Amino acid sequence: MTQSVYFFGNGKADGTRDMKSVLGGKGANLAEMTNLGVPVPPGFTIAADQCVSYLEHGGITDALRGEIRDALSRLELVSGKRFGDPANPLLVSVRSGAAVSMPGMMETILNLGLNDSTVEGLAGASGNPRFAYDSYRRFLQMYADVVLGVSIHRFEQLLAAKRLTTGAANDSDLSTDALKALVQEYQQLVRALTGADFPMDPHVQLWGAIEAVWKSWTLKKAVDYRKVNGIAHTLGTGVNVVSMVFGNMGDDSGTGVAFTRDPSTGDRRFYGEFLVNAQGEDVVAGIRTPLHIDEMARRLPGAYEQLLVTQARLEQHFRDMQDIEFTVERGTLYLLQTRTGKRTTAAALQIALDMVDEGLITQRDAVQRLQPGQLDQLLHRVIATSSHSTPLAVGLPASPGAASGVVVFDPDVAERRNQQGEQVILVREETTPEDFHGIVAARAVLTARGGMTSHAAVVARGMGKCAIVGCTALEISHEQRQMRIGEVMIAEGDWLTLDGGTGRVFAGDLPTQPSEVMRVISGQQPASEAPIYQGFATLMGWSDGYRRLKVRANADTPRDARVARNFGAEGIGLCRTEHMFFEGDRITAMREMIVARDEGGRRRALEKLLPMQRADFEGIFQAMDGCPVTIRLLDPPLHEFLPHGGEESSLLAASLNLSRQELARVVSALRETNPMLGHRGCRLGIVYPEITEMQARAIFEAAVRAQRRGIEVRPEIMVPLVSDVTELRHQRAIIERAADQVMGVMGDTIPYLIGTMIELPRAALTADELATEADFFSFGTNDLTQTTFGLSRDDAGRFLPQYVDGGIYEDDPFQVLDRKGVGKLVKWAVRDGRDVKPGLKVGICGEHGGEPRSVAFCHEAGLDYVSCSPFRVPVARLAAAHAALAESAGDR
Ligand code: PEP
Ligand code: MG
Repeated sequence: MTQSVYFFGNGKADGTRDMKSVLGGKGANLAEMTNLGVPVPPGFTIAADQCVSYLEHGGITDALRGEIRDALSRLELVSGKRFGDPANPLLVSVRSGAAVSMPGMMETILNLGLNDSTVEGLAGASGNPRFAYDSYRRFLQMYADVVLGVSIHRFEQLLAAKRLTTGAANDSDLSTDALKALVQEYQQLVRALTGADFPMDPHVQLWGAIEAVWKSWTLKKAVDYRKVNGIAHTLGTGVNVVSMVFGNMGDDSGTGVAFTRDPSTGDRRFYGEFLVNAQGEDVVAGIRTPLHIDEMARRLPGAYEQLLVTQARLEQHFRDMQDIEFTVERGTLYLLQTRTGKRTTAAALQIALDMVDEGLITQRDAVQRLQPGQLDQLLHRVIATSSHSTPLAVGLPASPGAASGVVVFDPDVAERRNQQGEQVILVREETTPEDFHGIVAARAVLTARGGMTSHAAVVARGMGKCAIVGCTALEISHEQRQMRIGEVMIAEGDWLTLDGGTGRVFAGDLPTQPSEVMRVISGQQPASEAPIYQGFATLMGWSDGYRRLKVRANADTPRDARVARNFGAEGIGLCRTEHMFFEGDRITAMREMIVARDEGGRRRALEKLLPMQRADFEGIFQAMDGCPVTIRLLDPPLHEFLPHGGEESSLLAASLNLSRQELARVVSALRETNPMLGHRGCRLGIVYPEITEMQARAIFEAAVRAQRRGIEVRPEIMVPLVSDVTELRHQRAIIERAADQVMGVMGDTIPYLIGTMIELPRAALTADELATEADFFSFGTNDLTQTTFGLSRDDAGRFLPQYVDGGIYEDDPFQVLDRKGVGKLVKWAVRDGRDVKPGLKVGICGEHGGEPRSVAFCHEAGLDYVSCSPFRVPVARLAAAHAALAESAGDR
């Protein structure tokens, strides 16, 4: 028979710290502490798989009941008390404890074993009847709430009434007699509401409590917590039955929580809070204001000394910052829990670096301890830790950061109010390239539709701007310039605060905190005065030593390129040239090109665009001196650049010397039913070769100019949305011709590469042919996901959350690369491409390039680099190091 119940007590335990998956974190660490000789009250842990089988089949098996009874007998022996003994009763706490900590998400019951007779035993043994009856009334309300389903508020009403009738200011002022009367009232309440007496048999109480803890695994808050934190629903929770120790036995007793180092700064100082004469829930519930841990040195000096020694020992043993719970019963210290302490990212860095200095962990451990996703906290504004507001709604966390501003529903209004010095939040159904100026002007963007790779998400992320998309709770009325979120109406000009890291939308202007790392990166603060930045830079430097993947950035402007480089980007993996056309008067030239009636008209417009593109490219080459810069030819459907009616159309018609009807005809001729599968990508350059010609010329002329200024240029020209080798061959010929012309005329030589994006399944399937014409491949996994799944990247946000919540898809495939399908195409293309051209350079430039699990896939698939938004570059660097370290751990 496999063991399901694990005992600990008297300095020996059945379990160890390595058994978290069996016992849960709390149980494994209670066992470990017992083995270490740390004072822990004795008890036992029921393995987590029993929770799983209870939830599947219901009921407690006879075998398990037997094991629990045996463990109880051992507990009685070790504690010298008996369960249900009226003279000297054993009382226990029953607590949850999963393999991954889920603080506060499941149930706890204290003082179990009390009934009308054992309460007298406790009064006698403690010599303190008031304490005994106070413990009893706490047990009654906790048990009735958790196990019998009687709302805790009903008991609180009775408690408040008792305070009122007896004139007690606080619960602690209630007399023993008042508490005795309260106990009877509580029991009557239970009888009235459940139709049965409160169970007096401690064994019945115990079975009920164990089942309640198991059931609490499926409470909504627990399920939600697991979803947000990526914890598997199949783990189940362990149950810890531990003999009670009492912090509420008088002024020589107390209880508290502490961290072995400061969890918000990482400083090496013991940090915590405690209460004299109290039980654990008093600290958590915030009924009384706890004292600073230093005060304990005065109030409970002996126990404090012991606590200091114990906490240091635990930290040395677990080699990480610990979060501990303790109780002092009549001067004797007991540890009730130790676990790895949660901390801010700044603290995580500081602690990791200090522990390397102290010789407690290696550099490799330090790199592995920091989770890539945690780095976001360092890079973006965050909502101040002092704020405790409840969100109005939650959308997709498209681009991290926190921002407050007044709501506007129109990009022009955003621009105007921003120019007047206001902070604005642009709220749209979804954004289009036409909204670009509004996005630039806004502090943050909020959309009702769209997924993680929708326009708003990609643009905002590239700019390092906070964005929440696909927030389906928004009901926007553009005419009335207002929106409804649930019951709340928000009008233009009202304040909102967004947390793009979590997707939460708050009413009002919540305080936000700037990040120190960002101030250094943008040159506002010297690195020498920024300790968090220094820690960040050191750790990133260490992680670079482990990774194999190179990390590039997706950047479209010289400014973004500089930011990317400061974040450690080793090149640009994607410069989306169309983004350069949205600013200022460029859009006008672009529109002229689109509506031109013939090649001559198009060429005249392109001549205007050429110097603008050339200047941008030169700036980017300069920012990326010595690093490769991948420039992609024009990609999106042309109609995206056109105005969609109204005043803008009239203005354009006038500036182009067209009647409104003529313009409308052109716009309507460009309209497509499925623009994402329409006239876009290399199809534009094939139908209008002069576009490719102009772009290639701009690239080579910029390269020559930069090179003449001593800059090392390494252009890599990339052809988008290729489905057949003939398309690539066609475009390659134009690019090569432009290169020869520019170099011939200018007399300089520029080393360059021509490659293709792989973003259609057919491109992946014919990679062997494409490799004959390509110097490199870059996976555009946004489109590759869209076309492999047949899911619109702009619309799928409406239902994908339900897919993920309902377990149809494990993850949103636009966020986490789908290994099974899209990943198979990637691997196929890498293999076939390199078969034809060994050493073919291969990278990824879809949004997945900055997502840690997808980066791990790219490492495994043998890619050379990942490319992502500048602000995700550090995340990708660390994720790439983790992937390499995980592989080498597997090798050992
Ligand atoms: C892609 O499709 O993954 C890609 C990088 O191109 P875009 O997002 O610009 O379509
Ligand atoms: Mg694409």
